[in-house]
Amino acid sequence: MSPRQLGQAAVLDALRGVKDPELGADIVSLGMIEDLRIDGGRVGLTVNLTTPGCPLREQIEKDVRSALTAVAEVETIDLKMSAKVRRSIEPQGNLIPEVANTVAIGSGKGGVGKSTVAASLALSFARAGASVGLMDADVYGPNLVQMLGVADKPQIDDNKRIHPVLVHGLKLMSMAFFLKEDQPVIWRGPMLHGAMKQFLGDVEWGAIDYLFIDMPPGTGDVQLTLSQIIPLTGSVLVTTPQEVALSDMRKAAAMFKTVNVPILGIIENMCHFNCPHCGERTEIFSHGGGRRAAETLETTFLGEIPIDIGLRQGGDEGKPPVVYDSKAGPAIAFREISEKLAAIISVNTYKQIEQDQRAGLGSIRADRGAARNPGRLPAPAGQM
Ligand code: ADP
Repeated sequence: MSPRQLGQAAVLDALRGVKDPELGADIVSLGMIEDLRIDGGRVGLTVNLTTPGCPLREQIEKDVRSALTAVAEVETIDLKMSAKVRRSIEPQGNLIPEVANTVAIGSGKGGVGKSTVAASLALSFARAGASVGLMDADVYGPNLVQMLGVADKPQIDDNKRIHPVLVHGLKLMSMAFFLKEDQPVIWRGPMLHGAMKQFLGDVEWGAIDYLFIDMPPGTGDVQLTLSQIIPLTGSVLVTTPQEVALSDMRKAAAMFKTVNVPILGIIENMCHFNCPHCGERTEIFSHGGGRRAAETLETTFLGEIPIDIGLRQGGDEGKPPVVYDSKAGPAIAFREISEKLAAIISVNTYKQIEQDQRAGLGSIRADRGAARNPGRLPAPAGQM
């Protein structure tokens, strides 16, 4: 028997001592506690992290356990670690109403590995447990169907809704599904605008935590259209290290800035090559330009990916290394980058929520919550 009656206040007080180090606030104020149950000395609760692949999961779990163990009356702890991805964007009209975050993957130049990065990041997020969509908006070179080895086609239901193809746990939509092999897209702006609207309005994306959009390279109609018709959480820019790629990437960055899309970070692809025979590292396209560009643009350098034969082969054969060779270098690099990116999105969203609350806009954004669980809002601080 407990010496004293254990109450909710004592448990919440203890939990207020646990901080999410990235968000810099305690887990009670952040609304991360759910299903708090107290029965004698038994405490049950769920802690909802802000993203499923949260690298701080183990630390927060350990901190919660030691905070509760320190309460004398607590005898047993039934702790469930889960995740609820918050919305960074408001639903607008009938386009992607249940998508919580949209991330555009862009580049200045073609051929720098933008689609490879888009597919690998989307797969890394999905493997961490997030619900993920991948939209191939690279209309002039829609390669994702091939890169992901998809043989199926999207289904169209009686209400003319298009259902994305499920592949390795993510929902994929691409122009390539509707083109014959080797058929080019020769469209002007208004037709592209229509196609993008259809991809977002007529496709049954459903509840999604993160929708990744593989943009065409450069600064054209598709980028403008997308930034106008849906809110974008932000963009990730991919570059190779040589000066020509970097200078085009800076133009892409300027375009995103002009249309008020935050740049979440920069990835340097093909940063070097490790010889498989002698192990010597060769910086074929130079090195470090991505990191320097991130500093100049005041954004985060998310990481670098070496030239890797497995990555190229996986792309050609439709066997992405993130899935088929998950213990190898590229998969590990993409996992680290995706954890960094998820954390940046969570922190930005939290700052946005705080700003809204300060501006008295809390009620307008009250529907922020888990995309996969839209009916269950995060409990307001202190009211479990
Ligand atoms: P983009 O979308 O920028 O045009 P892709 O992702 O289509 O570029 O990549 C172009 C080619 O380069 C593809 O064959 C892809 O497999 C290959 N590739 C991309 N990144 C790497 C890398 N780090 N190492 C080896 N090959 C790569």
